[in-house]
Amino acid sequence: MSQLDDVQQLARRVSRITMSMTVKISQRARELQGEGKKIINMGAGELDFDTPEYIQLGAIKGILEGHTRYTNVGGSAALISAVQNKFLTENCLTYTKEQITTGTGAKQLLFNALMATLNEGDEAIIPAPYWVSYPDMVKLADGTPVIVETSANSHYKITPEMLRKALTAQTKWLIINSPGNPTGAIYSVAELRALAQVLADFPQVLVLSDDIYEPLTYDTSFVSFAQAVPELFARTLTLNGVSKGYAMTGWRIGYAAGPVWLINAMEKLQAQSTSNPSSISQIAALTALRGDQSFLDGWREVLVERRDQACAILSTSELLRLQKPEGAFYIFVDCKAALGKQTPENVTLGDDLDIAQYLIEYAGVAVVPGSAFGAPGHFRIAFSIASEDVTTACEAIVAQMELLR
Ligand code: PLP
Repeated sequence: MSQLDDVQQLARRVSRITMSMTVKISQRARELQGEGKKIINMGAGELDFDTPEYIQLGAIKGILEGHTRYTNVGGSAALISAVQNKFLTENCLTYTKEQITTGTGAKQLLFNALMATLNEGDEAIIPAPYWVSYPDMVKLADGTPVIVETSANSHYKITPEMLRKALTAQTKWLIINSPGNPTGAIYSVAELRALAQVLADFPQVLVLSDDIYEPLTYDTSFVSFAQAVPELFARTLTLNGVSKGYAMTGWRIGYAAGPVWLINAMEKLQAQSTSNPSSISQIAALTALRGDQSFLDGWREVLVERRDQACAILSTSELLRLQKPEGAFYIFVDCKAALGKQTPENVTLGDDLDIAQYLIEYAGVAVVPGSAFGAPGHFRIAFSIASEDVTTACEAIVAQMELLR
């Protein structure tokens, strides 16, 4: 079959979405590594720590005890109960068991939620920079992403004025991600309440509060949207999971809580697609949630050290601007001052993709171009790699920037 025929076989929805740029960068990093070059990958979205041993052992015990069969579509009663308790004790949020569901990562739950609610013409407001998957998932679900550009002036957060301008009669969702990927910015209670005030005039709008980086906050405290704004509890979907906070990206467990009508619809979709998330991973997740959380203090200490070290080094470059992230494990670097400059090989850097390319080829550091997050003129680095590598990579980035004319 020719190439054209292959494409004709595809559903139209596939052509609406793009291949993740983060995947492309990782691919190039692997190619260069294959050629024997040392590449430090600051492109990945996961911690370098191992899943804590108590969680690993919990999962092994679960297998030996025979927790290897189908569970309820939305997760076992034990996991739902552990999630319910987590929301109550850590977020002061009281959910009934019927208001909670689990899935194969927060990603699947987000997908379920959008698929369950969006019709053609419905809009989802997504502040940029955003996590790469939001707009494509909205498109897959037949909706229209409404991207609201933010800037360093508002610490890359959407303001009430920006929100008011973006809202229409077609708005179905506002997506809030705090601490945010890629900026690490955290919304304060006052900021969330100010956004909610604007939403009061738009009763059809649902709020998706993506709290996946909750455990990884440093000097600023985190408050979930529904906790900050109890008035909008009934139209908020609180999304979380064990991937980022427990170094469990591969286990694929996310959880969500919200109105029963929405949770039921999400489970209906899950029942006809993947069914329950892995029973063994469910045991691991409930072990994680129920266990002693004190290991997180040690992790946060290491991450703060890496963050501060990276920020200190990168700030020495006149071509780079950055804000210290308050949470997550990314630094979002403004590199607009480097645009239009020439490399020692006389190549002009036209955009952030050129800069990412320049850094991977010559500094040996893989970063993700800001365009992937809807914010051209930036790049994202993840400091969730060995501390020595953070230092080496940031020094290499700065040295490479100095060579530009
Ligand atoms: N939300 C944000 C903001 C993320 O960065 C990610 C992963 O990168 C996810 C959700 C998905 O997490 P999970 O591994 O639970 O699917």
